[in-house]
Order: sequence, then structure tokens, then C-alpha cells
Amino acid sequence: MSHTAFIGLGSNLAEPAAQVNHALRALGELPQTRLLKVSSLYRSAPVGYLDQPDFINAVAQVETGLAPRALLDALLALELECGRTREFKDAPRTLDLDVLMYDDLVHHEHGLTVPHPQMHLRAFVLLPLLEIAPDCIIPGVGAAAVAMAGCAGQQLERLEHVAE
Ligand code: ADP
Ligand code: MG
Repeated sequence: MSHTAFIGLGSNLAEPAAQVNHALRALGELPQTRLLKVSSLYRSAPVGYLDQPDFINAVAQVETGLAPRALLDALLALELECGRTREFKDAPRTLDLDVLMYDDLVHHEHGLTVPHPQMHLRAFVLLPLLEIAPDCIIPGVGAAAVAMAGCAGQQLERLEHVAE
């Protein structure tokens, strides 16, 4: 269990906060995986396709023995369990789970790019990430805090507490 990964979570359908909280618990139950840190929940406006509900987002840090591909496959399986479908790009979703970073790995293969290629452009990833890892350096990109400064203007609200 010697690897550290950051996972991005998002949902905007079917009680999104409950979806994200459920997924956070499920992350800690993946094989060879332990939940280390969890951000607050955040509410963000949709990007890309705008005619859909706001998203609830969070970021988690896990310790895992799973290789990057095995971790992604486990996350995609969890998405499916939670009723995820893929109708079109940026469509509303019950659950989106992304491998944001895996140790200091910079890697690209079919269906798996690490760090996640858009993470440094998205306040809904960077702000929760900075909450749990303030000094985070995104491999191949640079300081997450600097990336966040470039995301000014993106609407994001930290939720104090969300009842399920
Ligand atoms: P997005 O998260 O960009 O809105 P999807 O969740 O529909 O889009 O993901 C589409 C595909 O992105 C997945 O099937 C997966 O194979 C691929 N992918 C590539 N790199 C990653 C990553 N780091 N984390 C999650 N998915 C990834
Ligand atoms: Mg995804």
C-alpha cells in the first residue's frame, strides 16, 4: 500500500451530496485502499453543457496498492454501480470519479491520463484539493495554488454541512 492518489468526485443528479458521500465511503472500501483525507463538499456551476443542475464536488486522498489502471477501473465500476450513464460529453451524471494524481506520475495511455488533463483548469478540483493538500504540486504542471489563481471567476461555494 505504498502509493498516494488523489480522486476527484462530482455529481449533479439524484441527490448529489448523498452520491458523493456514498462514493467517499466506498473509496475506503476498495481493495488495498485506505482513505487518508477528504475535502469539504463544494457546489459548482456546470461547465461545457450549461443547461443542467449545479454539481457537488469533493476531492479525496487515498493510500492504495492498486496500480493506476486498476484504480481507474475500480472507480469506473463504482460509477456504474451508482447508475452512471454516458449520454453525451459533459452530460449530467450521478457520479463522476477521476484519478487526479497518482504519486508523482506523469503518464498517458489510451483511456488514462495522469495527472487528469483538465484538473489544473478547474476551480472545483483545485479548491478542494488545496483544502486537503495546500502545498500540492501537480506533476508536470506546477503548484496547485498557482493554477487556482488562474481560475478566478469560476463560481464555487464551499458547503458547511450537507445532511444526507
Ligand atoms: P469527464 O470526467 O472528463 O467528464 P468521463 O468521466 O466521461 O469524462 O470520462 C471519460 C473517460 O476518461 C473515461 O472512460 C476514462 O477512460 C478517461 N480518463 C482518462 N484519464 C482519466 C483519469 N485520470 N481519470 C478518470 N478518467 C480518465
Ligand atoms: Mg470522469
